[in-house]
Amino acid sequence: MTPETLARLDRAHLIHPVSSWRDQEEHGPRLLSSGQGVWLTDMHGHTLLDGFAGLWCVNVGYGQDSVVKAATEQMTKLPYATGYFGFASEPAITLAARLAEVTPGDLNRVFFSQGGSDAVDSALRFIRFYQHARGMAGKRHVIGLARGYHGCTYAGAGLTALSVFHRDADVPLAWQHHIPSPDPYRHPAGEDGSAIIAASVASLRAKVAELGGPEHVAAFFCEPVQGSGGIVVPPRGWLTAMREACREMDILFVTDEVITGFGRTGPLFACEHEGVVPDMMTVAKGLTSGYAPMGAVFMSETIYSTIRDGSPPGVAIGHGQTYSAHPVSAAIALAVLDLYQNGVLENGVKAGAHLATRLAAMKDHPLVGDVRSAGMLAGIELVTDKKNKTKPAASLGISKKMAKAGYEQGVLFRAFGDDIIGLAPPLTCSVEETDLLCDRIEGVLNTLMNDNEIVAAIV
Ligand code: PLP
Repeated sequence: MTPETLARLDRAHLIHPVSSWRDQEEHGPRLLSSGQGVWLTDMHGHTLLDGFAGLWCVNVGYGQDSVVKAATEQMTKLPYATGYFGFASEPAITLAARLAEVTPGDLNRVFFSQGGSDAVDSALRFIRFYQHARGMAGKRHVIGLARGYHGCTYAGAGLTALSVFHRDADVPLAWQHHIPSPDPYRHPAGEDGSAIIAASVASLRAKVAELGGPEHVAAFFCEPVQGSGGIVVPPRGWLTAMREACREMDILFVTDEVITGFGRTGPLFACEHEGVVPDMMTVAKGLTSGYAPMGAVFMSETIYSTIRDGSPPGVAIGHGQTYSAHPVSAAIALAVLDLYQNGVLENGVKAGAHLATRLAAMKDHPLVGDVRSAGMLAGIELVTDKKNKTKPAASLGISKKMAKAGYEQGVLFRAFGDDIIGLAPPLTCSVEETDLLCDRIEGVLNTLMNDNEIVAAIV
């Protein structure tokens, strides 16, 4: 089909995820046709350096032959096997066992979902089952962070704390609550790490007290680095302090590593930076590197055995889907894991260090208030007044102007609102490609400086 026909059909039929349906119909799609390494090509032959790894998921880059081969072989041999009725497939079992070896501590039990949202939803259900099974059904409330993102199922959207996911949806649910984000750039406690950590622990304790005490609180969820909330990198020590506070209060500590998992911040899982072992962990994206849908929930032996032993003999635990532990996705995840363990993680650490150095130099740009990064995950926060950290006015339309300039200059990134540029390139980026990515981002920032309205707004 021609690009024109596809655009017409897209406008007429395809509902795009998290989009303005009006804008989508007005502007039509940006049609991608192929990818290789860190490069994408659109249907007009325009090449783009993918600085966002699709949707922070294509960690191993495009066109990995070993992954394609694993998928093809599994599709030929056995394209589907249910996990119901005691059935299982070899790739699903092998993947579960290999992941148990590399996940922190005793997170040895895994349930496979189809993506991140249903991994989070599954985790919330398992938490409920666990509290019931141990005779503490009163522990119902779940606490998350402001600016957190935990997917778009009903329960996940409520745990999320981003307004577009709440609007007209009657969430958060009555048992979902939020405490402030540990954002070093904008925290009321200032940029001092220990003050931010102390404030977060105090907020958690205060929220638990407000909810009637630990006997009413089941779990605390957090992303080790907040992603969709604008790439918030908490101070070093924050994760440990929150984990310890949860342990003291007998509240489950759950890390949502849907973005940060699988090398995005350096190590395989971001909680490894501080040697933190959560009670549960959710992953997706990098698990299959976006080559097929799959997510997972890992749980500790204690949670697993409590649910197992607390359930009546012979009665099913009512949770699972047709595509849980899909064999093709599992075969892909195994091939992707091989790539991580054979150079991709290492390369991500090297490229991430280079990215951080290049970004640090951008702080002098008149529009840049803050840069932050953790491995191959980075944010650039734009302000029009550095001293007062003033966000650019929506009327300047910076987000749209950046997206246009980026496309023209051959670079993809994500704009969060009008003030944050998100970067999450494939971990396979070479140092030269990382340089090119940064050169092009600088090019986009410089294009903004050619806009009289924007320049006039800078204080
Ligand atoms: N949790 C986090 C931290 C995420 O960033 C995302 C997606 O970006 C999700 C959950 C939802 O994952 P999915 O889009 O695969 O449903």
